[in-house]
Parts: sequence; C-alpha cells; structure tokens
Amino acid sequence: MTETTTPAHTEGQDGHLKRPAISFEFFPPKTEDMERNLWETINRLAPLDPKFVSVTYGAGGSTRERTHSTISRILKETPLLPAAHLTCVGASRGEIDEIVDRYHEVGVRHIVALRGDPAGGIGTPYASHPDGYQNSADLVAGIKKRHADIEVSVSAYPEKHPESRDFDADIDTLKAKVDAGATRAITQVFFDNDFYFRYLDRVRARGINIPVVPGIMPMHNFKQARNFVTRNGTTVPEWLAAKFEGLDNDAETRKLVAATVAAGQVQKLAKHGVDTFHFYTMNRADLVFAISHLLGIRAKSAQKAA
Ligand code: FAD
Repeated sequence: MTETTTPAHTEGQDGHLKRPAISFEFFPPKTEDMERNLWETINRLAPLDPKFVSVTYGAGGSTRERTHSTISRILKETPLLPAAHLTCVGASRGEIDEIVDRYHEVGVRHIVALRGDPAGGIGTPYASHPDGYQNSADLVAGIKKRHADIEVSVSAYPEKHPESRDFDADIDTLKAKVDAGATRAITQVFFDNDFYFRYLDRVRARGINIPVVPGIMPMHNFKQARNFVTRNGTTVPEWLAAKFEGLDNDAETRKLVAATVAAGQVQKLAKHGVDTFHFYTMNRADLVFAISHLLGIRAKSAQKAA
C-alpha cells in the first residue's frame, strides 16, 4: 500500500480502528445561486456525520444576518450541530451580547470566538471598539459568562499569527483564551505538517491541553488560494507550488492533484496520531468528500431529510 491509500484510522485500545472525527466550515452565501450551491454541498456532506459544521462571520460583521440565517436553517433542516463564528470587530459589547443571546435562543450551543481582522484590512493596526470586547479572550469570557452551556472554540496559528511578536506571545494569547473557557482550537490552514507538530509541542509545553484541530484546505484553485492564504501568514512550500505547475488552464487535473495533496496531508497527520480534522470546504463538497472517504469515513445511511 502506498502512503495515500493507507487507512488513516488510529488503533484504539481494544485493537479496533477508530474513525477520525471531522468538521466542516462554510461561508454564508451572498446570492440565491450561492445559497443553492451551499445547500447541495451541505446535503452531500451531512451523511458523513461531522462532529459539527461551522459558518464564518464576514470581516467587520458584514455577514451578521446571513451567518445567522444559514445557522438557523442548518438547525431547522438538518441533524447537524452548527457552530457560529463571531468576531469582536466594529461592535459594542451590547451588540455582540445580543447576537450571542439570539443564537442561544434558537438553540446554538457552539461559537467560534475570534478577535477578527483590523477594520482597515490585514496589515493595518487593529483598534478595538471602545465599548466592545477588547480581544478574543475577552469575547470568550463574555460568551461563557452569559451562557455557560455554549461551547467555545478559538483559532490557533501553527506558523504564528502575522501580528504576533513571537511564538511565546502567540501562545500566551491561546492560553488566555483557554483560561477564559475555550475548549477547542482550530488551526489556520497550513501545508507543511512540521509547522503543526512543532506548534503542538510548544502548546503542550505551555500546559495547554485542549484539542488543537488541524484546519485543512483542499486547494480548488491553487493560484487564488495561494494569494489568500499567504496574506494570512501561511507558507506555501515550493514543492506544493510545483505540483500545480502548468495546470492553470486544466481545472480537472488541478482537482485531482488538490485531492491527492490534501489526502496525503491528512493521512500523514493521522499516521502520527491526529484523529480530528476541520475542513475549509469553500462551500464545495467534491474534494472534501473524497478526502474524507480516503480517511475511511463512509456516509451514514440514516439521514434526516434536509
Ligand atoms: P487572536 O487569537 O486573538 O490573536 C492572534 C494572535 O495575534 C495572537 O497570538 C496575538 O499574539 C496576536 N495579537 C492579537 N491582537 C494583537 C495586538 N493588538 N497586538 C499584537 N499582537 C496581537 N475572521 C473573520 O473575520 N471571520 C471568521 O469567521 C473567521 N474565522 C476564523 C476561523 C479560524 C479557525 C481561524 C484560524 C481564523 C478565522 N478568522 C476569521 C481570521 C481571524 O479573525 C484573524 O486571523 C484575526 O486577525 C485574528 O483573530 P483571532 O481571534 O484569531 O486572534
């Protein structure tokens, strides 16, 4: 068996193979066409029985209503457990508290709490709202204080956040978020697994014991994805760029290569004991479905109609 066909399951104490846990991230659709496409994606991926599905929150709160309506529809029409992303940007504590209360009222019990990017865009200085939550740890504490039964996940940066002075400062922030009540970290996308393992060593050395779930992004469109992720501080290794060389006008082959690359990445992580993965789906099912399949995940036949 080659590396990419090795079953990714880790062995449990009883000798049985453990199915990895997966979660999916979506963004709220802007148009009716995008909405239809998102729902096809959700319906295709739902039978894979993800632990949760999360819906992002546009920069500066620009998708507040769309995030809410996507989350509400997931709750109403599927058996999936939704997690709503929320940032501190451009809103007072009162406004954020109202959003949190509204989520709680409709039955949401999981929030991905973030500081968010500076209002002027990545690279400009971050200024918190004068009456707002001051940073991500402050937001985590605020959510837990209002509703202790809301599970809070936060971000983590295997290559450190671009604004972080160094890894120690970066991990101080993660520690503050955990001390405030976060029980799961989801990483920024990375392509070199060594970054993840080195980061995990640092996190564990700091006494942080929550799961740090790798965020995996299959690159549907390499050039576009590279521009996007490098702005967020993710390294795109040369060997990865080389795999997509000459495929700019060949979407079909790009797709096969993207699936192979991401499947290779998750299988290598799994081989080293990682048993939970978060997929940045970009609202597309095909690659994520194939990669999950290669991880040994099969659709559940019994599924509530969406
Ligand atoms: P934090 O974890 O609070 O901080 C990240 C690092 O930056 C810290 O380690 C700290 O050292 C440093 N830092 C923070 N503030 C300062 C400061 N003032 N001065 C110096 N250093 C500082 N963005 C969205 O808009 N919507 C989303 O839905 C969304 N979802 C995300 C999901 C995941 C899993 C991840 C990894 C990121 C997501 N983001 C999202 C992006 C995120 O908002 C940005 O990366 C943002 O710049 C940082 O927010 P944070 O909560 O990750 O920051």
